[in-house]
Amino acid sequence: MDLFEKCRNFTRADEVKATGCYPYFHAIEESEGPVVGIEGRKVIMAGSNNYLGLTAHPKVREAAIAAIKKYGTGCSGSRYLTGTLDLHIELESRLAKFMGKEACLLYSTGYQTGQGIVPVLVQRGDYVVSDKDNHASIVAGTLVAAGMGSYANDSNNMVVRYKHNDMAHLDHVLSQLPADSAKLVVSDGVFSSSGEIVNLPDMIKVAQKHNARVMVDDAHAIGVIGKGGRGTASHFGLEKETDLTMGTFSKTFASLGGFVVGDYKVIDYLKHNAPALIFSASPAPASVAATLAALDILESEPQRVEKLMLNARKMRSGLKSMGFKVSEHDSAVVSVLIGDTEKVLMMWRAIFDEGVFVNAFIRPAVQPGMEMLRTSYMATHEEHHLNKILEVFSKVGRKFGVIN
Ligand code: PMP
Repeated sequence: MDLFEKCRNFTRADEVKATGCYPYFHAIEESEGPVVGIEGRKVIMAGSNNYLGLTAHPKVREAAIAAIKKYGTGCSGSRYLTGTLDLHIELESRLAKFMGKEACLLYSTGYQTGQGIVPVLVQRGDYVVSDKDNHASIVAGTLVAAGMGSYANDSNNMVVRYKHNDMAHLDHVLSQLPADSAKLVVSDGVFSSSGEIVNLPDMIKVAQKHNARVMVDDAHAIGVIGKGGRGTASHFGLEKETDLTMGTFSKTFASLGGFVVGDYKVIDYLKHNAPALIFSASPAPASVAATLAALDILESEPQRVEKLMLNARKMRSGLKSMGFKVSEHDSAVVSVLIGDTEKVLMMWRAIFDEGVFVNAFIRPAVQPGMEMLRTSYMATHEEHHLNKILEVFSKVGRKFGVIN
């Protein structure tokens, strides 16, 4: 049997392309944030994670250009060896301060951050207890921890999943583990497909009862919820109780890269033991400088976070009042549940034809029955953009019989 047989037999994408409803890999030719150019047309972007709209901010663009002029285009080495710039150290110290933690470590992407923390901390005889709907980067980290990857651990690590955001089940799962074992409970802060916010107060109560450490992935929470956009722990006033928070630069921070904040000793351990950091080149100068500039704006203009939330709330209540089933949580992700793959794909196309870009989430990204059109908002969406999105959803929703 040829290894590539499965690739030749993979026809699903071509079949969807043939229907004209393929929603993925569409090239963006130009972007101002809320409006992008796709296939020669201007389209309203309602599917980006550019939450504060900072990818187009002049100060962010200028900071990236200045960094390229000063440092060149890449670091050509890992943080461990020749890839540490003064900019990396400045950003780590600024982020630690912003998040109210002792120390911070940068990774080259958010994915590497999630994937790179769990297997370094969770070693032989330890347990990682993970929400069933956690992001793929955390899932990858748990699989490595379980011994399916190649880190220093043997395969004795245990990975346990608990029912989505169900803290009674988390309690049950933890109570089944050896009382004297070391444990990490990990959850998304804001879940990426539904926009749901984790029940952090109960999660922490349960974790403390079982002597477990807590880690939150705040990719969709920083710049969105919490005081001045400081994320999930801040949203609930539980900064001290949350041991580790990770984030990404690819959303609010308008750039590329990831980070984790926590106690100095834990961050120092990760710094010297995390293969995802040690064996991968450090974030490029332009990315780090753009993130620093975005952080300046986040700190000095917290009203942007308020505007983002006003926009998301307007859309959530507007879509709901039309009769759509929308996720109820107060984040910048507003998902419209459709529950049928073919309908999602056809509606995606009709919405695109009307000049709005949203994300089609189908299996395996979501559970069967949870197929959805995921919309997400920016602080820079204006009223007329939002009204147009609502108008298009109303027209397409009625056409496909999803609303009356
Ligand atoms: N965690 C979550 C919850 C995410 O949604 C994402 C990106 N979609 C990541 C981590 C990975 O971040 P990055 O894009 O920086 O790799």
